[in-house]
Amino acid sequence: MPPQKISKKLFGTNGVRGVVGTSMTPELVLSIAQAFGTMRKGCIGVGRDTRTSGETLKKAAIAGLLATGCDVVDCGILPTPALQYLVREKFEGGVMITASHNPPEYNGIKIIEPDGTEMGDEETVRLEQIHFSRSYSTATWDKVGKETTDTSLYWQYIRAIIGQFPNSIGNGMTVVVDPGSGPACLTTHEILLAMGCRVITINGATDGTFPGRLPEPSPEGLKKLADLVVSSGAAFGVAHDGDADRAVFIDDTGRFVEENAEFALIVRYACQQNPGVVITPVSTGMVVEKVVRSERSDIIYTPVGSIYVARTMRSLIEQGKKVVFGGEGNGGLIYPGHQFCRDGGMTAATMVAILAESKLPLSEMVNKLPPRFIFKEKTAVTGEMKIIEYFKNHYSREVTDQTDGLKIYRGDTWALIRASGTEPIIRIIVDADTETNGKNLLLELKEQLHIAVQEMS
Ligand code: MG
Repeated sequence: MPPQKISKKLFGTNGVRGVVGTSMTPELVLSIAQAFGTMRKGCIGVGRDTRTSGETLKKAAIAGLLATGCDVVDCGILPTPALQYLVREKFEGGVMITASHNPPEYNGIKIIEPDGTEMGDEETVRLEQIHFSRSYSTATWDKVGKETTDTSLYWQYIRAIIGQFPNSIGNGMTVVVDPGSGPACLTTHEILLAMGCRVITINGATDGTFPGRLPEPSPEGLKKLADLVVSSGAAFGVAHDGDADRAVFIDDTGRFVEENAEFALIVRYACQQNPGVVITPVSTGMVVEKVVRSERSDIIYTPVGSIYVARTMRSLIEQGKKVVFGGEGNGGLIYPGHQFCRDGGMTAATMVAILAESKLPLSEMVNKLPPRFIFKEKTAVTGEMKIIEYFKNHYSREVTDQTDGLKIYRGDTWALIRASGTEPIIRIIVDADTETNGKNLLLELKEQLHIAVQEMS
């Protein structure tokens, strides 16, 4: 049984985010940190991405934790998965100041549990209650926490990833790394160098103004990376989002590798080594399921959000299931032999191993995947939950799945209609076996959405 989503007031799918100075302020971070410090005792690791507002908000988080009696290690700038790794190894919790892929004016906060996963829904609802009621357990003068700083701890994370692969497996391979001025400026090139690769870097200096490209690693933002891959004759290019829990790729011909194709290549490698169960949200492309099934493995779907994937992986392992991989179709992939969170550095390293072992160019591996046709639409609406109910009624006689929103199956083609959760919009994804089938189903769903919106108004 996949986990059910619980609605929260403040936290979205990946923590709290807002525009700095309006919806994201030191006061808010201070209060959330005091609430977290009220729930957890011990030593908390605190880190941040490279945003200009990062230092202010990090200090607010540290103040809140110290005030509630927690000790703090300030880990400085590092990728979210690096902090998650450190928390699992040595802390009783973590606070990451990041807005991930959002534009520079945003910042946010992610709360990390002692096992390195992001805080789940039930605990988050408790945290929100303490935050809104301001019922913190403030420490007396002799119980206030102590703060230390160690900004080199991310090397433990780098060494942990290197240790997952045979020595010098990347010998002779050229890779171009685009950390997008984010925290992976400190980590990904070090990982690949240690694996034996020749590494070229673009946007490789930490900079919260993101002068080279936006934190979202979109095909449009990665044109310079693509040019550099082609002109340097590199095996591939890799780019991260603003906190480096995701990685996306440019192949040897300079083409952006669609994230579901990336997932398919990496999950195939994982299942070939170790067949078992793969966990992913209902929004992930069919190419992943096809590859998983062709490797004597099984797939289980969850609601949309990496935390549901990570927690389902953990609970199935506790039940004795052989869970070999997890991830989302956005370049956020989870390696259970390493840790239970999305890890962009680990994804970059795994691509080196895949290419070294297959001896095929990345472009050829992508071309050999089962072809799929994906269409995406988002529409601004009001009353999005009522619209989802309309769709559930309208399609009640068809083969559907209600894990998150409504998924409709038509033979080898499916569509997902769901409310965004953070904005008043309806998202439609169609994943089809042929272009015609995809276009026809999308057209039908847009017509139904139009009727639903008219009925609601
Ligand atoms: Mg991210």
